[in-house]
Amino acid sequence: MKGKVYLVGAGFGGPEHLTLKALRVLEVAEVVLHDRLVHPGILALAKGELVPVGKEGYGEKTPQEAITARLIALAREGRVVARLKGGDPMVFGRGGEEALALRRAGIPFEVVPGVTSAVGALSALGLPLTHRGLARSFAVATGHDPALPLPRADTLVLLMPLHALGGLKERLLERFPPETPLALLARVGWPGEAVRLGRVEDLPGLGEGLPSPALLVVGKVVGLYGELLPKDHGL
Ligand code: SAH
Repeated sequence: MKGKVYLVGAGFGGPEHLTLKALRVLEVAEVVLHDRLVHPGILALAKGELVPVGKEGYGEKTPQEAITARLIALAREGRVVARLKGGDPMVFGRGGEEALALRRAGIPFEVVPGVTSAVGALSALGLPLTHRGLARSFAVATGHDPALPLPRADTLVLLMPLHALGGLKERLLERFPPETPLALLARVGWPGEAVRLGRVEDLPGLGEGLPSPALLVVGKVVGLYGELLPKDHGL
């Protein structure tokens, strides 16, 4: 039998946001190499052997080259492999790098999209990214590199912001007035989900003690939260 690799997006939260295609792949894959950011309820759906290739402080870090080498080796043995990533594999998930490595090695592969946290974590909480009269564009970036200017958009979503909060206020003030509303959304769809609302001028203190993973959303749409967020949401 010919080996194949599926680069699969698990979505940002629990199994309800998994696509039917991702579910089908998890049922046929003989080996599932998964990231730390995959909900346990989704891992429980996999029928094959689970291999954590954790990053960001979850057990041993597995270097990217070791992950791609393993995918290639397993496929060459004729195995059907799922490479399961949080959110969408092609959004800050190094899916593109893995796809290129597989293509160059001549390994058949397919990408299975997932609901990215950059959009899904917001909409699951009832927050629009665009809104007539408030926001006609959105951008997604990381806040990592303090030397890089942030993108220009009405709504700005920053992934992996918690370690960068210290320097972000100044960079955000180049793009938004200080009173612009923002929200930190942590663990959306996971136990311990938390939302913190504030303004650009409230950084970096607003993020203190917040669990990861979390994302930051900035822009006038966040001002709608008061009306849209369910009252019983544990703020
Ligand atoms: N490929 C993923 C992103 C990987 S980068 C995707 O498409 O969603 C990891 C970052 O995603 C985290 O640092 C955080 O900013 C964000 N993230 C992922 N899941 C999240 C969740 N459930 N709640 C809040 N942020 C999340």
